[in-house]
Amino acid sequence: MPDRIIKLCHDKGLKITGQRRVIARVLGESNDHPDVELVHKRAVAIDPKISIATVYRTVRLFEENDILDRHDFGDGRARYEEVSEAHHDHLIDIESGEVIEFENAEIEALQRAVAEKLGYRLVDHRLELYGVQSKKK
Ligand SMILES: [Zn+2]
Repeated sequence: MPDRIIKLCHDKGLKITGQRRVIARVLGESNDHPDVELVHKRAVAIDPKISIATVYRTVRLFEENDILDRHDFGDGRARYEEVSEAHHDHLIDIESGEVIEFENAEIEALQRAVAEKLGYRLVDHRLELYGVQSKKK
């Protein structure tokens, strides 16, 4: 949602400069979990004066304020997405790097059951599946 990040910035009392607004817009419109370089590439297409350092700082600020989630999908690059309202997990295609979002009620229940068995109430989790496409045709 393009304007949700801006709204979250307001709610959290963050100052919204022109460049931050552009970066927020890029992040809100990206559904592919971009890394900082890709966010920068998209941001300079809108405002060529935005530096990669500004993108780094802004993304970190958003992350610290729980506006963005940071992921490490195993290639050592931090990747970002807007904090989502509904929980989802990720499957990473290790050949193409594509990230596929999914939800699975059985996995959710199983994780709660595992935590319970160990004496815990589950409050959060992260699950990443890494795969290659099975033979097609
Ligand atoms: Zn995601």
